[in-house]
Amino acid sequence: MHKAVFLDRDGVINNDTGKYYTYKVEDFIINKDIIESISLLKQNKFKVIVVTNQGGIAKGIYTSKEVNKVHEYLQNILKNNNCYIDDFYFCPHHDSIEQCDCRKPSPKMILEAAKKHNIDLSASYLIGDSKRDIEAGDAANLKKSYKINANESIYNICRNIINKNC
Ligand SMILES: [Mg+2]
Ligand SMILES: [Zn+2]
Repeated sequence: MHKAVFLDRDGVINNDTGKYYTYKVEDFIINKDIIESISLLKQNKFKVIVVTNQGGIAKGIYTSKEVNKVHEYLQNILKNNNCYIDDFYFCPHHDSIEQCDCRKPSPKMILEAAKKHNIDLSASYLIGDSKRDIEAGDAANLKKSYKINANESIYNICRNIINKNC
């Protein structure tokens, strides 16, 4: 089985500008140390999986296609730097429009990824910048979920995760 680090997207991977929804490539600013952090995780054989709520889709502000385009853009930048994200999961729903069972704090996206990628959840981690990220990680029984401030570097957390696994 594989170990994984689940990453929230907005405020962790890319700059959460306070604009609330990021869905254009030109607004997608990758946070400091993200490439180095993902490289470190991949070099140490972790799966890296994005789990993100994208309620703006349910609200009609943008489409799944635009979300996929942003993820492709990110993946291309990572590949140019010899690393990559193993998979992307997003919840397109929003409580104000329709209830669903995938929106964080639900652990469903994490559980689906675990099944598909043969991930040992009890040896895996999550990094997020909101309470509902941590609740999702806890509900999935991850080893540990780390809460950062929005747009804070995750490099030291990734180094700690690697060191624990040496
Ligand atoms: Mg976030
Ligand atoms: Zn959902």
